[in-house]
Amino acid sequence: MPQNYDAIIVGARCAGSPLAMLLARKGYRVLVVDRATFPSDTVSTHVVQPLAVAALERWGLLNRLTATRCPPIQTYTYDFGPFTLSGTPGPKESPIAYCPRRTVLDKLLVDAAGEAGAEIREGFTAWEILIEDGRVVGIQGRSIGGAAVREAGRIVIGADGRYSRVAEAVRPDQYNEKPPLLAAYYTYWSNLPVGDRFETYIRPYRGFAAAPTHDGLTMTVGGWPYAEFEANKRDVEGNFLKLFDLAPAFADRVRRARREAPFAGAAVPNFFRKPYGPGWALVGDAGYNRDPITAQGINDAFRDAERCATALHEAFSGSRPFDEAVGDYQRSRDEHVLGTYEFTCQLATLEPPPPPMQQMFGAIHGNQPAMDAFAQMNAGTISPAEFGAIVAAAHRPA
Ligand SMILES: Cc1cc2nc3c(=O)[nH]c(=O)nc-3n(C[C@H](O)[C@H](O)[C@H](O)COP(=O)(O)OP(=O)(O)OC[C@H]3O[C@@H](n4cnc5c(N)ncnc54)[C@H](O)[C@@H]3O)c2cc1C
Repeated sequence: MPQNYDAIIVGARCAGSPLAMLLARKGYRVLVVDRATFPSDTVSTHVVQPLAVAALERWGLLNRLTATRCPPIQTYTYDFGPFTLSGTPGPKESPIAYCPRRTVLDKLLVDAAGEAGAEIREGFTAWEILIEDGRVVGIQGRSIGGAAVREAGRIVIGADGRYSRVAEAVRPDQYNEKPPLLAAYYTYWSNLPVGDRFETYIRPYRGFAAAPTHDGLTMTVGGWPYAEFEANKRDVEGNFLKLFDLAPAFADRVRRARREAPFAGAAVPNFFRKPYGPGWALVGDAGYNRDPITAQGINDAFRDAERCATALHEAFSGSRPFDEAVGDYQRSRDEHVLGTYEFTCQLATLEPPPPPMQQMFGAIHGNQPAMDAFAQMNAGTISPAEFGAIVAAAHRPA
């Protein structure tokens, strides 16, 4: 087979398209395939955290997002019942989050990859990953209604989500695994203004949140422990609406609103995968999946795309051996996300925080730098360890 591509990427959403764009901008020959055709929705809410917004800015794409009139989010609020913590989620240089529909965000990313020179094949399913002598050499697949085709590349990258076909073929080591912890559902409302806030409501074994998105709509997402998934799935609507009753002022606002979409939802496993091997790599959910409760997936996918692009450039250009360069991508990924992963999985149980933590939340109420740090930890801007250090400093006697 002629090796027509440096990189073949399976999956064209938050991980695949930015990686394709970054490699194509460096002059590499890139093919991206996705069985979806864009604009395309997916089962996911879509809070884009400030660090991911900073990545869009670095890539020259933020102005395209703001041109879609997606409302900016300046403040995250956490209503625990007796008190609410309220803070700014981002660093000074990138303080804002957005909640763009995936139909808009993913299309923008696919277009940017195409403009950078990557070849995009939409409506193309890669059903087989071709392996020769233990090395991945290409893919076999088909466009809708088309004949089977094979394509060969120096590397095949799985950006194909948590049920990755590429990962299934190469069977990477999987570690830090946890089962699904939370059943999460979401829908959209008109006449439910939340201004520039991402509002979160936390109650024992229940939680929900609301954020402004395109077209004057507000996205609400909420859920219950996975142990209740089977029992509650028979009446998602009834169980979802009961969440609002736990915060009566919010329930009042919902009574004046109108639901504009059916409920969608998912419960996902939590895992890390070794993201590279002979002729292959994994980015985004294909390599690392975590519960959506902290809305980190897009942030993580963007960071993976940048780090993996750098590693592949080093390997392709011969400046570092493949294993060393892409091994660094894995190490930096794991170091960066591990604290947030543990925090996310703990949060996803929806168990009430232990009493010392509840006291700490009460103690930081009203202390703006500490509340900002709380919002930033939840946004993935700082790690839980950094948050702990900020709170300790705030309470250290002078
Ligand atoms: C309920 C829920 C809510 C969430 N909320 C948020 C949130 O608010 N903020 C946030 O940052 N993250 C959120 N996430 C996580 C986020 O959706 C993911 O982390 C993100 O989409 C990962 O992007 P990706 O590109 O790695 O994979 P995906 O978005 O899963 O994209 C994979 C692509 O690969 C394609 N594909 C798969 N297999 C093949 C194949 N064999 N051939 C061709 N194409 C293929 C698919 O069609 C798909 O387009 C949420 C997730 C869930 C489940």
